Amino acid sequence: KIRITGLRKSFGDNEVLSGIDLDVQPGEVVCVIGPSGSGKSTMLRCINRLEEPTSGDIVIDGESICAPGADVDRIRRHLGMVFQQFNLFPHYSVRENLTYAPVQLKLMGQAEADKVAMDLLARVGMADKADAMPRSLSGGQQQRVAIARALAMQPDIMLFDEPTSALDPEMVHEVLDVMRELADDGMTMVIVTHEMGFAHDVADRVIFIDGGVIVEQGDPEQVMHHPRNERTKSFLSKVL
Ligand code: ATP
Ligand code: MG
Repeated sequence: KIRITGLRKSFGDNEVLSGIDLDVQPGEVVCVIGPSGSGKSTMLRCINRLEEPTSGDIVIDGESICAPGADVDRIRRHLGMVFQQFNLFPHYSVRENLTYAPVQLKLMGQAEADKVAMDLLARVGMADKADAMPRSLSGGQQQRVAIARALAMQPDIMLFDEPTSALDPEMVHEVLDVMRELADDGMTMVIVTHEMGFAHDVADRVIFIDGGVIVEQGDPEQVMHHPRNERTKSFLSKVL
Protein backbone atom coordinates (compact mmCIF):
# COMPACT_ATOMS: atom_id res chain seq x y z
CA LYS A 1 0.00 0.00 0.00
CA ILE A 2 1.21 3.48 -0.89
CA ARG A 3 0.05 6.70 0.73
CA ILE A 4 1.31 9.95 -0.76
CA THR A 5 0.37 13.18 0.96
CA GLY A 6 1.18 16.74 -0.07
CA LEU A 7 4.07 15.66 -2.29
CA ARG A 8 6.00 18.58 -3.73
CA LYS A 9 9.18 18.49 -5.76
CA SER A 10 11.14 21.40 -7.16
CA PHE A 11 14.27 21.47 -9.28
CA GLY A 12 15.76 24.85 -8.45
CA ASP A 13 12.86 27.27 -8.75
CA ASN A 14 10.96 24.97 -11.12
CA GLU A 15 8.19 23.33 -9.09
CA VAL A 16 7.39 20.10 -10.91
CA LEU A 17 5.06 18.48 -8.36
CA SER A 18 2.76 20.92 -6.61
CA GLY A 19 0.97 18.86 -3.98
CA ILE A 20 0.11 15.28 -4.92
CA ASP A 21 -2.18 13.22 -2.69
CA LEU A 22 -2.58 9.62 -3.74
CA ASP A 23 -3.45 6.34 -2.04
CA VAL A 24 -2.84 3.06 -3.80
CA GLN A 25 -4.52 0.04 -2.23
CA PRO A 26 -3.02 -3.46 -2.19
CA GLY A 27 -3.83 -5.17 -5.48
CA GLU A 28 -4.88 -1.94 -7.12
CA VAL A 29 -3.73 -1.02 -10.64
CA VAL A 30 -3.37 2.73 -11.12
CA CYS A 31 -2.56 4.13 -14.55
CA VAL A 32 -1.11 7.64 -14.69
CA ILE A 33 -1.67 9.69 -17.83
CA GLY A 34 -0.82 13.26 -18.67
CA PRO A 35 1.14 15.51 -21.02
CA SER A 36 4.91 15.51 -21.42
CA GLY A 37 6.59 17.42 -18.61
CA SER A 38 3.61 17.18 -16.25
CA GLY A 39 5.63 15.39 -13.56
CA LYS A 40 4.63 11.74 -14.04
CA SER A 41 8.16 10.33 -14.00
CA THR A 42 9.17 12.62 -11.16
CA MET A 43 6.29 11.28 -9.08
CA LEU A 44 7.32 7.65 -9.70
CA ARG A 45 10.94 8.51 -8.98
CA CYS A 46 9.94 10.09 -5.67
CA ILE A 47 8.05 6.91 -4.71
CA ASN A 48 11.24 4.88 -4.74
CA ARG A 49 13.46 7.77 -3.71
CA LEU A 50 15.36 8.11 -6.95
CA GLU A 51 14.35 11.72 -6.30
CA GLU A 52 14.11 13.31 -2.89
CA PRO A 53 10.76 15.03 -2.32
CA THR A 54 10.99 18.72 -1.47
CA SER A 55 8.11 18.33 0.97
CA GLY A 56 5.24 16.00 1.73
CA ASP A 57 5.32 12.38 2.75
CA ILE A 58 5.28 8.96 1.11
CA VAL A 59 4.37 5.99 3.26
CA ILE A 60 4.89 2.48 1.90
CA ASP A 61 3.35 -0.40 3.81
CA GLY A 62 3.19 1.78 6.91
CA GLU A 63 6.73 3.12 6.70
CA SER A 64 7.64 6.67 5.71
CA ILE A 65 10.38 6.78 3.12
CA CYS A 66 10.90 10.47 3.83
CA ALA A 67 11.44 10.29 7.59
CA PRO A 68 14.95 11.10 8.79
CA GLY A 69 16.83 7.82 9.12
CA ALA A 70 14.44 5.92 6.85
CA ASP A 71 16.09 2.75 5.56
CA VAL A 72 15.65 3.61 1.91
CA ASP A 73 17.39 0.48 0.61
CA ARG A 74 15.15 -1.82 2.58
CA ILE A 75 11.95 0.01 1.64
CA ARG A 76 13.04 0.10 -1.98
CA ARG A 77 13.27 -3.68 -1.99
CA HIS A 78 9.47 -3.80 -1.76
CA LEU A 79 9.29 -1.81 -4.99
CA GLY A 80 10.05 -3.09 -8.46
CA MET A 81 10.66 -0.50 -11.13
CA VAL A 82 10.59 -0.88 -14.90
CA PHE A 83 11.74 1.96 -17.14
CA GLN A 84 11.27 2.94 -20.74
CA GLN A 85 14.87 1.89 -21.42
CA PHE A 86 15.24 -1.69 -20.25
CA ASN A 87 18.64 -1.15 -18.57
CA LEU A 88 19.57 -4.83 -18.49
CA PHE A 89 23.14 -5.64 -17.42
CA PRO A 90 24.73 -6.08 -20.86
CA HIS A 91 27.52 -8.44 -19.78
CA TYR A 92 25.25 -10.88 -17.95
CA SER A 93 23.02 -13.52 -19.46
CA VAL A 94 19.26 -13.21 -19.13
CA ARG A 95 19.22 -15.59 -16.15
CA GLU A 96 22.12 -13.79 -14.48
CA ASN A 97 20.25 -10.50 -14.88
CA LEU A 98 17.54 -12.00 -12.67
CA THR A 99 19.79 -13.67 -10.10
CA TYR A 100 22.45 -10.99 -9.63
CA ALA A 101 20.71 -8.72 -7.12
CA PRO A 102 18.96 -11.37 -5.00
CA VAL A 103 22.24 -13.29 -4.62
CA GLN A 104 24.41 -10.19 -4.03
CA LEU A 105 21.99 -8.97 -1.37
CA LYS A 106 21.97 -12.46 0.16
CA LEU A 107 18.22 -12.74 -0.15
CA MET A 108 18.66 -16.15 -1.80
CA GLY A 109 21.39 -18.66 -2.50
CA GLN A 110 22.42 -19.19 -6.12
CA ALA A 111 20.43 -22.41 -6.54
CA GLU A 112 17.23 -20.89 -5.22
CA ALA A 113 17.75 -17.72 -7.25
CA ASP A 114 18.24 -19.83 -10.39
CA LYS A 115 15.01 -21.66 -9.75
CA VAL A 116 13.08 -18.44 -9.09
CA ALA A 117 14.63 -16.96 -12.24
CA MET A 118 13.53 -19.86 -14.41
CA ASP A 119 9.98 -19.72 -13.01
CA LEU A 120 9.80 -15.99 -13.72
CA LEU A 121 11.27 -16.33 -17.19
CA ALA A 122 8.64 -18.96 -17.97
CA ARG A 123 5.98 -16.58 -16.71
CA VAL A 124 7.06 -13.86 -19.16
CA GLY A 125 7.57 -16.35 -21.99
CA MET A 126 11.37 -16.09 -21.99
CA ALA A 127 12.48 -19.42 -20.51
CA ASP A 128 14.09 -20.50 -23.79
CA LYS A 129 16.32 -17.39 -23.70
CA ALA A 130 17.72 -17.91 -20.19
CA ASP A 131 21.29 -18.26 -21.48
CA ALA A 132 21.06 -15.55 -24.14
CA MET A 133 22.79 -12.19 -23.81
CA PRO A 134 20.55 -9.10 -23.70
CA ARG A 135 21.87 -7.61 -26.95
CA SER A 136 20.68 -10.65 -28.88
CA LEU A 137 17.06 -9.99 -27.84
CA SER A 138 14.39 -7.79 -29.38
CA GLY A 139 13.19 -4.75 -27.44
CA GLY A 140 10.00 -6.52 -26.41
CA GLN A 141 11.98 -9.51 -25.18
CA GLN A 142 14.40 -7.28 -23.26
CA GLN A 143 11.53 -5.48 -21.58
CA ARG A 144 9.92 -8.78 -20.57
CA VAL A 145 13.25 -9.80 -19.02
CA ALA A 146 13.41 -6.43 -17.23
CA ILE A 147 9.97 -7.08 -15.74
CA ALA A 148 11.05 -10.56 -14.65
CA ARG A 149 14.20 -9.09 -13.13
CA ALA A 150 12.15 -6.65 -11.07
CA LEU A 151 9.88 -9.52 -9.96
CA ALA A 152 12.92 -11.56 -8.87
CA MET A 153 13.25 -9.20 -5.90
CA GLN A 154 9.75 -10.30 -4.86
CA PRO A 155 8.37 -6.78 -4.66
CA ASP A 156 4.98 -5.92 -3.19
CA ILE A 157 4.49 -3.07 -5.61
CA MET A 158 5.57 -2.58 -9.23
CA LEU A 159 6.19 0.85 -10.74
CA PHE A 160 6.28 1.21 -14.53
CA ASP A 161 7.43 4.34 -16.37
CA GLU A 162 6.27 4.15 -20.00
CA PRO A 163 7.46 0.56 -20.37
CA THR A 164 6.39 0.30 -24.01
CA SER A 165 7.36 3.74 -25.32
CA ALA A 166 10.74 2.63 -26.68
CA LEU A 167 9.35 -0.43 -28.45
CA ASP A 168 8.49 -1.01 -32.07
CA PRO A 169 4.70 -1.17 -32.37
CA GLU A 170 4.57 -4.91 -33.05
CA MET A 171 6.30 -5.60 -29.72
CA VAL A 172 4.09 -3.46 -27.53
CA HIS A 173 1.38 -6.06 -27.04
CA GLU A 174 3.72 -8.79 -25.76
CA VAL A 175 4.86 -6.51 -22.94
CA LEU A 176 1.36 -5.28 -22.18
CA ASP A 177 0.16 -8.91 -22.04
CA VAL A 178 2.74 -9.66 -19.34
CA MET A 179 1.63 -6.60 -17.39
CA ARG A 180 -2.01 -7.58 -17.78
CA GLU A 181 -1.28 -11.01 -16.30
CA LEU A 182 0.57 -9.42 -13.42
CA ALA A 183 -2.46 -7.24 -12.76
CA ASP A 184 -4.77 -10.27 -12.91
CA ASP A 185 -2.51 -12.01 -10.37
CA GLY A 186 -3.21 -9.17 -7.93
CA MET A 187 0.05 -7.22 -8.09
CA THR A 188 -0.17 -3.62 -6.87
CA MET A 189 0.90 -1.50 -9.83
CA VAL A 190 1.44 2.16 -10.69
CA ILE A 191 1.85 2.51 -14.44
CA VAL A 192 2.71 5.67 -16.35
CA THR A 193 1.58 4.97 -19.88
CA HIS A 194 0.47 6.43 -23.17
CA GLU A 195 -1.30 3.17 -24.03
CA MET A 196 -4.83 4.42 -23.59
CA GLY A 197 -6.54 1.15 -24.54
CA PHE A 198 -4.47 -0.73 -21.98
CA ALA A 199 -5.18 1.86 -19.28
CA HIS A 200 -8.88 1.67 -20.03
CA ASP A 201 -8.97 -2.13 -19.87
CA VAL A 202 -6.58 -2.89 -17.03
CA ALA A 203 -6.59 0.06 -14.61
CA ASP A 204 -8.78 0.07 -11.55
CA ARG A 205 -8.23 3.81 -11.52
CA VAL A 206 -6.87 6.33 -14.00
CA ILE A 207 -5.13 9.47 -12.81
CA PHE A 208 -4.67 12.49 -15.05
CA ILE A 209 -1.74 14.68 -14.01
CA ASP A 210 -1.14 18.11 -15.50
CA GLY A 211 1.13 20.85 -14.19
CA GLY A 212 2.27 18.79 -11.21
CA VAL A 213 -1.19 18.17 -9.74
CA ILE A 214 -3.80 15.45 -10.08
CA VAL A 215 -6.41 17.20 -12.17
CA GLU A 216 -8.86 14.32 -12.38
CA GLN A 217 -9.04 10.70 -11.33
CA GLY A 218 -11.50 7.86 -11.20
CA ASP A 219 -12.86 4.87 -12.99
CA PRO A 220 -11.14 4.50 -16.42
CA GLU A 221 -14.38 4.71 -18.34
CA GLN A 222 -15.36 7.89 -16.54
CA VAL A 223 -12.00 9.66 -16.81
CA MET A 224 -11.23 8.60 -20.38
CA HIS A 225 -14.65 8.74 -22.00
CA HIS A 226 -16.57 11.17 -19.81
CA PRO A 227 -13.91 13.54 -18.43
CA ARG A 228 -15.25 16.37 -16.32
CA ASN A 229 -12.25 18.69 -16.44
CA GLU A 230 -11.45 20.81 -19.50
CA ARG A 231 -7.73 20.02 -19.28
CA THR A 232 -8.49 16.27 -19.25
CA LYS A 233 -10.80 16.71 -22.24
CA SER A 234 -8.19 18.65 -24.17
CA PHE A 235 -5.43 16.10 -23.43
CA LEU A 236 -7.59 13.13 -24.36
CA SER A 237 -8.76 14.76 -27.59
CA LYS A 238 -5.10 14.75 -28.68
CA VAL A 239 -4.22 11.19 -27.69
CA LEU A 240 -7.37 9.09 -28.15
P1 ATP B 1 7.18 12.74 -20.19
O1 ATP B 1 5.77 12.34 -20.56
O2 ATP B 1 7.84 13.53 -21.28
O3 ATP B 1 8.01 11.60 -19.71
P2 ATP B 1 6.83 13.56 -17.40
O4 ATP B 1 5.41 13.86 -17.08
O5 ATP B 1 7.37 12.24 -17.01
O6 ATP B 1 7.05 13.80 -18.97
P3 ATP B 1 8.97 14.62 -15.78
O7 ATP B 1 10.04 13.81 -16.38
O8 ATP B 1 8.50 14.23 -14.42
O9 ATP B 1 7.70 14.72 -16.76
O10 ATP B 1 9.49 16.11 -15.78
C1 ATP B 1 8.73 17.18 -15.29
C2 ATP B 1 9.57 18.42 -15.32
O11 ATP B 1 10.66 18.28 -14.41
C3 ATP B 1 10.18 18.75 -16.66
O12 ATP B 1 10.07 20.14 -16.86
C4 ATP B 1 11.63 18.36 -16.51
O13 ATP B 1 12.46 19.15 -17.30
C5 ATP B 1 11.88 18.60 -15.04
N1 ATP B 1 12.89 17.69 -14.49
C6 ATP B 1 12.78 16.36 -14.36
N2 ATP B 1 13.89 15.82 -13.81
C7 ATP B 1 14.74 16.85 -13.61
C8 ATP B 1 16.07 16.93 -13.05
N3 ATP B 1 16.74 15.88 -12.60
N4 ATP B 1 16.63 18.17 -12.99
C9 ATP B 1 15.97 19.27 -13.43
N5 ATP B 1 14.72 19.24 -13.95
C10 ATP B 1 14.11 18.05 -14.04
MG1 MG C 1 8.27 10.68 -18.01
